[in-house]
Amino acid sequence: MSQFRQMFEEKYMRFPGGLSKAVTLSYDDGVHADKKLMQIIDKYGLKCTFNLNSLLFDCRNWHDRMDEEETYALFSDSRHEVALHGARHIFLNKVPLHEAIREVALNRDWLEHKFGRIVNGMAYAYNGYNDEVKRVIGDLGVQYARTTRSTHSFGLPEDFLEWHPTAHHSEDCLPELTQKFLLGSPEDEFKHREPWLFYLWGHSYEYDDADNWSVLEDFCKSVGGRNDIWYATNGEVCSYVKAYRSLVFSLDGEMAFNPSYMPVYIEIRGKTYSILPGRSVLFGKE
Ligand SMILES: [Zn+2]
Repeated sequence: MSQFRQMFEEKYMRFPGGLSKAVTLSYDDGVHADKKLMQIIDKYGLKCTFNLNSLLFDCRNWHDRMDEEETYALFSDSRHEVALHGARHIFLNKVPLHEAIREVALNRDWLEHKFGRIVNGMAYAYNGYNDEVKRVIGDLGVQYARTTRSTHSFGLPEDFLEWHPTAHHSEDCLPELTQKFLLGSPEDEFKHREPWLFYLWGHSYEYDDADNWSVLEDFCKSVGGRNDIWYATNGEVCSYVKAYRSLVFSLDGEMAFNPSYMPVYIEIRGKTYSILPGRSVLFGKE
């Protein structure tokens, strides 16, 4: 009996509601095609983070960017997240460090004042970053930053300032990855029961350019409207994971305290517990 129990001592994060799977989207540049993208993902209940520049409004010859008013109208009351993409969409790793700092600070200041909310997520323009850039954006309060390096897997990042997505929507493996995500589950694993996140990214204008909006429609139809998946923005995923990682455990691991402001879910010995904000839980050993 005790030997049997030994096999299940590991603790695994579960998403809100005790779920083991989540989907998030990330789309860049604030272009007119974002409107259509939002209509499609709203239809299926998915959530997206839109990464916006703040000094390139109405730049029609750069993938038909929206102007300030259109941008505000589209995102101000939406269920989605707005995030940073640099003021001018430059490589942060190809300018003096102080210029990179200014680029992110101006972008953050503009978006926060325009939208009246905290904006502390980011996607690196052109995937331009290095260790120094990561350090200074952290100093500017940025909580996470997305790269463009596909993992083709469903793991969560160790380092949120280098958040690698699962796939770009144009990759050939997308249908296969989607099926793998839907048909399998962390709960099918004996060990390695870490939760799964499907993180899709791209630019909405690419669907117009390739005339393949059906790729998005098919993806949303497949993964949307299910009660075993949490649909969240990048920022919601990041905040939740950080809350989970802030749990405080007793020496023997049998008690956990949640110092965060949100309920956190944890699986141990095949059983899922919710730990309320500011409360402790003693894991039962039946
Ligand atoms: Zn971009």
